[in-house]
Amino acid sequence: MWDAIVIGSGIGGLAASAALARRGRRVLVLEQHAVAGGLTQTFRRGDWTFATGVHYIGGVGPQPGPGGQFGRLLQWLGDGSLQFSACANPYDIIHLPGLEFGIAHPESAFRDALLARFPQQRDAIVGWFESCAAARRAAFTLFALHSAPALLAWGLRQWRGGEADRWTHRTLAEELAGITDPQLRAVLGARWADHGAPPAQAPFVEHALVTGSYDAGAYYPVGGPARFAQTLVPTIEAAGGEVRLGCDAQRILSDGSRACGVEYLCGGQLRREAAGTVISAIGVANTVACLGPGDAAAWQRTVRGLAPGLAYVALYLGFDGDVAAAGAGTANHWIYESEDIGAVWQRAGDEEAPGIFVSFPSLKDPASHGKPTAEVVAMVDAAAFAPWFGPAAGPRPPEYRALKDRIAQRLLGQFLRHFPGLRPLLRFHELATPLTQQRYVRSPRGAMYGIEMSAQRLTSPALHVRSPLPGLLLAGQDVTSPGVQGAFMGGLMAAAAMEPALWRRLGGGGA
Ligand SMILES: Cc1cc2nc3c(=O)[nH]c(=O)nc-3n(C[C@H](O)[C@H](O)[C@H](O)COP(=O)(O)OP(=O)(O)OC[C@H]3O[C@@H](n4cnc5c(N)ncnc54)[C@H](O)[C@@H]3O)c2cc1C
Repeated sequence: MWDAIVIGSGIGGLAASAALARRGRRVLVLEQHAVAGGLTQTFRRGDWTFATGVHYIGGVGPQPGPGGQFGRLLQWLGDGSLQFSACANPYDIIHLPGLEFGIAHPESAFRDALLARFPQQRDAIVGWFESCAAARRAAFTLFALHSAPALLAWGLRQWRGGEADRWTHRTLAEELAGITDPQLRAVLGARWADHGAPPAQAPFVEHALVTGSYDAGAYYPVGGPARFAQTLVPTIEAAGGEVRLGCDAQRILSDGSRACGVEYLCGGQLRREAAGTVISAIGVANTVACLGPGDAAAWQRTVRGLAPGLAYVALYLGFDGDVAAAGAGTANHWIYESEDIGAVWQRAGDEEAPGIFVSFPSLKDPASHGKPTAEVVAMVDAAAFAPWFGPAAGPRPPEYRALKDRIAQRLLGQFLRHFPGLRPLLRFHELATPLTQQRYVRSPRGAMYGIEMSAQRLTSPALHVRSPLPGLLLAGQDVTSPGVQGAFMGGLMAAAAMEPALWRRLGGGGA
């Protein structure tokens, strides 16, 4: 009998488990994959190590206050050895036809650079940052509503709900519509893939929140993103807990009134474990797939009505030689072929991607011992992969492999056009598709960030840390926000629902 079983070892599941371990709870973590960490896992090909879901992180700098709060929580929950290295400043570089614009931190530096580049747009720029600040204040209410007990949530909604609604139902496109200069509009909206919803659909509050998370600097974990699991798992084990890999949760067991355990497949055997609480950190869609038809049936129907978010393709590149001298750096590049920054790649492989994101992770990690790498990401319409979304029996068919080749060649061509100096150093490339994402982290239809990002996602009472089935809590990105920090907070909120003393830690105090 465990105090809790946590399903999923992504950063959300590990944060929940380590926080409970810090309160002396014995936690069993079940992970279907052979590697812990979810989207913080890394993988090797020859001398190259690639990250899967981390390019940069905010909130982990040395600053007191909110700018360093995420880092302090990680230190507290981990074994104390996790460190971060600062990325370049400007940390994001936007490329548009005829314009290259670096986004610097703190935000005041970004604002001053915009005012210098677009002096005619002073009022629009000042207004934009005022809106961002107001939206971020409202975001606090929004996420508190996903974790507060019913009575508190009711009070909060009466007090601050109107403001939260206003910035949630206002889209990024609506906020940008007041800006007349198309290049300025494109620069401000360019980073929407950080939350996964194009401007016409993105709640402005989410865009303000995610882009503002780098106000105190952009960082990368020293030793690579795998360090998250490496530093959190010892805490779980020290309290008598366990992380079991290759264990695929099939069913969340209930005794008719509350969740009481998990049935899972491990090494070909079906096993059961009992626990006082089950915390699911595998996404809400996967969670309801593990429930019996009679358990919280109305909630299951609501969750099944929430669509998965946009998918992506990622091209992993390996080099040999001095990539920094050939044009690579520790800033990310957002490269758009036109000012229409909201377009999603519809006919992947048959046309160029409307936009690509380029990052050089090995340069960001001062402890990287392997050869240099780059990652190229493009948001894609998952429909192109629809024929193959079912479980794969044997090798993938030639049509799928041919599509992969075409996409890889397109992305490679676009990448090399912007970084021609890297061509002679290029030695390796491999493409990940939505099927890859579905296989390794079980994300439905390969969605990049779980449930589709929309006002509905941010306000849905169904995405509350406490599910309607007593004893079943939800953790990870679906109950908060996409991103490592968001998923981590989702994990802490679930742990705090079980151990209320943890709320003080979340608020910056001790527990
Ligand atoms: C390409 C890409 C780039 C990104 N870049 C950044 C970035 O630069 N900065 C940033 O902050 N965020 C970034 N993100 C987002 C960030 O990685 C995620 O939001 C976050 O890691 C999600 O954490 P999670 O714990 O909610 O889910 P996940 O990491 O997806 O973990 C879920 C875990 O549950 C396991 N699981 C699923 N089903 C079962 C089952 N039935 N039984 C057992 N285990 C199961 C999965 O195998 C997985 O390990 C990026 C994401 C992607 C895809």
